[in-house]
Amino acid sequence: MDSVKELNFLNGKRVSARDVLRTIEKCNPATGCLMFNIQCSGEKDVNEAVNSSRKAFDLWSRKSPRERGQILCSVARKIRTRVEEIAVAEVLDTGKPIYEARIDILGCADVLEYYGGISASIRGYHHALSDNNFAMVQREPLGVIGGIGAWNFPFQCMSWKVAPALACGNTVVYKPSEFTPTTSVILAEMFSEVGLPTGVLNIVQGSHETGELICRHPQISKVTFTGSVGTGQKIIKSCADTMKKVTVELGGKSALLVFSDCDIENAVKATLLGNFFTQGEVCTNCTRVFVQKTILKEFTKRLLEATKKLKVGDPMSEDTMVGAVISEAHGNKIMDYIDSACKEGAIVSCGGEKIVPAEAHLKGFFISPCILTDCSDDMKAVKEEIFGPVVSVMPFDCEDEAVARANASPFGLAAGVMTRDLQRAHRVASGLQAGIVWINNYNIFPPEVPFGGYKMSGFGRENGLAAIEDFTQLKTVYVEMNKDIDCPLYKS
Ligand code: NAD
Repeated sequence: MDSVKELNFLNGKRVSARDVLRTIEKCNPATGCLMFNIQCSGEKDVNEAVNSSRKAFDLWSRKSPRERGQILCSVARKIRTRVEEIAVAEVLDTGKPIYEARIDILGCADVLEYYGGISASIRGYHHALSDNNFAMVQREPLGVIGGIGAWNFPFQCMSWKVAPALACGNTVVYKPSEFTPTTSVILAEMFSEVGLPTGVLNIVQGSHETGELICRHPQISKVTFTGSVGTGQKIIKSCADTMKKVTVELGGKSALLVFSDCDIENAVKATLLGNFFTQGEVCTNCTRVFVQKTILKEFTKRLLEATKKLKVGDPMSEDTMVGAVISEAHGNKIMDYIDSACKEGAIVSCGGEKIVPAEAHLKGFFISPCILTDCSDDMKAVKEEIFGPVVSVMPFDCEDEAVARANASPFGLAAGVMTRDLQRAHRVASGLQAGIVWINNYNIFPPEVPFGGYKMSGFGRENGLAAIEDFTQLKTVYVEMNKDIDCPLYKS
């Protein structure tokens, strides 16, 4: 099929773009086949979407937070009844294995339900002042939010932004990645089906030009973005002219610190959890694994055994653990990183090969999970985000050294520490420069805990109560209770 699909969502309906800048081919990462063409929305489309969301803001922001929460809970229930259909669409767009897509979709229902549940409790506070005067601090929505998503977790990227934004009374214009346009429209449709008023959530499809139109639009109050550091920097600059608030969830090069007193089996499990979901295309992945020298040999042996068991192949197969990377260009980039590591002296201890699946229709880019050993911290593949199934294993001697090396990165998204020593676990966690630190686990994302980075990995938080702060602004209302006000400037 190579037709253009109606993938914009405006005023409660799927529509074609009216101001098409260009079209982009959307291919299935696993088969490499063209699925359809995406229309990149131009200025008229973005203006229409923003106007629609602007109008809907008056109605939506005046609803009680409890009513807004009910809509979020209804959509969460709907998602649970349609997991399979959404998961299949997500697999066709991303190339990730179906087992994982189901987990992602259910996780999104959890997030929507969480914000649905707390919506009625979003509130401001009160300050008692002298002589019965007081001030109320009201928590108000920002207006129209522009959401811009990445391609690795398309349904999740949108849910994590839309759920808190809507709970707080904002309306949203969302642009998914041009690589993964499908499931965001399904989510928008489900919202309409459960009674979200028309215009509260609109979708414009497109690439960077459409994203930039969102960032520069004067009627958008905030942009919430997930993607690469380079794009994040451009977005912050584009948003500066209209003084928009910005949340940027960016890339990472996270570290896992494996101490000699840890449970080695759990350390191996954490390394797998922290590296091989979604073919390694996960921002928080602990691609730098620092292992205390005394257990390096044993840990590496067991990690290699476990990694070799991961089945790579058709993402629609129930037993596939690693699917296809998003595109050929991205696959080649990952392979270049593996080559560069080898040239700099690393050893490919397992994987790192382009796999050709037995099924003839699977013409996408498949890479076997790769463990690089004999790595050093200054190698390109150890310093830069690869965004593929590639782990570098490096030995360390002592705690201070491990923490210093983990922190010697411009990124600061996540980190992990594996140890049975409680004091050490907390000491190391407090020394790590990262927005999320897992102790004795990795890549766990409960909706109630904040998510976001330090340093070049961005700022602002998603999930938890922290996102409520990011999607609201405070209005202080001072109330004078005395009949005559005290004014030294006034002479009677
Ligand atoms: P990307 O930066 O290439 O694109 C992200 C989005 O930005 C897309 O929708 C794209 O169309 C849009 N865009 C591109 N240029 C733009 C511009 N100038 N103005 C406005 N919008 C623009 O990122 P990607 O390749 O889609 O995703 C991979 C990156 O995302 C990795 O670096 C990964 O670490 C990061 N990521 C971070 C998180 C997180 O929460 N921290 C989560 C997932 C992915």
